[in-house]
Amino acid sequence: MLTWIQSPRPRSDKFLFVDRDGVINADREDFIKNWSEYRFCPDAPEALRRLKQHGINVILISNQSGLNRGIISWPDFWDIHLRMVQGIHQAGGDILAAFYCPHRPDEECTCRKPAPGMILAAGALFSIRMEATWFIGDRVSDLKAAESAGCRGILVARQQWGCGRRQDGPEGIEVRGFPDLASAVKGIFGDL
Ligand SMILES: [Mg+2]
Ligand SMILES: [Zn+2]
Repeated sequence: MLTWIQSPRPRSDKFLFVDRDGVINADREDFIKNWSEYRFCPDAPEALRRLKQHGINVILISNQSGLNRGIISWPDFWDIHLRMVQGIHQAGGDILAAFYCPHRPDEECTCRKPAPGMILAAGALFSIRMEATWFIGDRVSDLKAAESAGCRGILVARQQWGCGRRQDGPEGIEVRGFPDLASAVKGIFGDL
């Protein structure tokens, strides 16, 4: 598990877990391998700005198996991360910390979602009350990780399952998808 911490001091006791690919930025089937392939979702920087403005600590929880698959180089991975953080800062937003799992599925680690390892590590580090905290993700594995960690999951369904409608996701799990991060944040916190 890779842990990046902007500050050991949260700005409040309010937290939000957010997946990266498909929520903050457009996902790619062939992995986001370098900064030229990274595209912020149009609504994300402003949503992050509003979260910061209201003192909500955002923690990124992201699987990045492209690292141990040998598809993403370590320098490119950290370059993407640091430029993403810079872009978020420029938009007036912030992230408190980021947790990444570099493992392949066959490594059977305890951090790759749907395992809850990264969320639990973040929770222990910042004394987060799980039952009062949401996780915004774009896959059923995000929702499962949230459930296993004892927090509440909410789905952003940007393209894959339609948007903002109640529907059946994979494996028979009924999910309610919000079309983007901004509307998911609104669904949780109301009008910020
Ligand atoms: Mg994702
Ligand atoms: Zn892992």
